Parts: sequence; structure tokens; C-alpha cells
Amino acid sequence: MNSIAQRFAKVRKQLRQAEINAQRALGSVQLLAVSKTKPAADIAAVYSFGQRHFGENYLQEALKKQQELAAFSISWHFIGPIQSNKTKPIAQHFAWVHSVDRLKIAERLNEQRPDYLPPLNICLQVNISDEASKSGIELADLPDLIEQVGKLPNLRLRGVMAIPEPQQDYQAQCLPYRRLYQAVRQLDRSDLDTFSFGMSGDLQAAVAEGSTLVRIGTALFGERPSQ
Ligand SMILES: *Cc1c(COP(=O)(O)O)cnc(C)c1O
Repeated sequence: MNSIAQRFAKVRKQLRQAEINAQRALGSVQLLAVSKTKPAADIAAVYSFGQRHFGENYLQEALKKQQELAAFSISWHFIGPIQSNKTKPIAQHFAWVHSVDRLKIAERLNEQRPDYLPPLNICLQVNISDEASKSGIELADLPDLIEQVGKLPNLRLRGVMAIPEPQQDYQAQCLPYRRLYQAVRQLDRSDLDTFSFGMSGDLQAAVAEGSTLVRIGTALFGERPSQ
């Protein structure tokens, strides 16, 4: 049997082992539970083990689950592609957005962030696999976007997010993360404290290359229906 409890324990253990292998401080990598396509009951189960940060990709689905789970103190992260006509509910209903890939989206989120909420935590999504189809800005454009987004008062720019092309080979998994990590470090901005790197298939490599937050879906909640 593979219950959510067992999978959660296994992911926590893998994460701890990855921190040890990479000589990172224990607890330095945060776990984001990616619950897209999974029911609110699964989120409630993982919550009962102490997990508080959950990631969703699809706005309507996320808003529905947020309503069902309104009594829980969950920190919701939006990690999916953002259409500019959807920024308002995202600015209203999330604590983090990992998938900002252009200034226009950041400006809209900034304008639409309600006054009664703290600044919205932002990661800029960078395309580090040179795949034309993948979203995210080019690495060369990152310094300018950091500069501009960093000025928006209702946003708190935290760092970068990347979804590299899936690779089986460990070294091949490491390389794109290393490139992006070093590029950000070179900018010498100590306010950027978040590297949203790593999913179920490349957690070890991501932690070795500086991840501070891994986004784990399948390993926690089981396989998703194919999209
Ligand atoms: C679905 C998704 C994840 C989780 O992927 P798994 O391979 O299921 O762990 C992480 N990040 C993003 C942006 C996703 O869309």
C-alpha cells in the first residue's frame, strides 16, 4: 500500500538526505506540495502531517479548493502559466507566485494586490533549457526584469523558478540549475533568497545546485491523470 502518509514520510526523508548529501543545513530547503488535479481531501491529509505550503497551477481549480479549505491556514503558491486577464484573482488569493515571466504580469499583480495583504512573494520564471516552447524569460533578460520588478511596492521579489527539460542523467539535471544559480549569485542581491528548483524527478540534483524550495507533486500525491 502506498498511502499519502507513507509518501509524505518518504519525500521528507529524501529531502533530508538530499540536504545531507549536498552539505546543506537541515531544513534549508522548503517543501512545496503541488496539489494540482488532486482533491481537497488529499490536501487536508498532507496538511494534517504539518505541511502548510501548497502549489496550484490552474486558477479555477485552485480557487475552488481554497474555498473548501478556507478553515485551514495554508500558504497558497501559484505556479502555473499566467494569462494577463487572470492576474486579479491571483493577486487576491495567493501568497506566492512562481511563474512571473514578463513585466506586464508583475505590474498587474502589483496594482491588483489588495492593501490588506502583505506584499505578494514573487519568483521570476527563467527558461534554462533553450526550449522555445517552454515559458520563462531568457537568462540574458533576467537582470533587467529583476531590476524592474524589484521596484514594485506591493510585490516582494524573492528569486527565480525554473522547470528544466526532463533528463534522466544526474549531471544533465544539475547543469541548468547551476547556470541559473550562478547567474543570480553574480548579481549580488542578498534580497533574492529563493531558488524554486526541483520536482519529483530531479529533487536531489536541484538541492545539490542550491534549491531553497522544491515543488513536489507526483511523489507526494501519486500520479496525475495525463493531460
Ligand atoms: C506539476 C508541477 C510540479 C510538480 O511536478 P511533479 O513532477 O509531479 O513533482 C512542479 N512545478 C510545476 C511548475 C508544475 O507544474
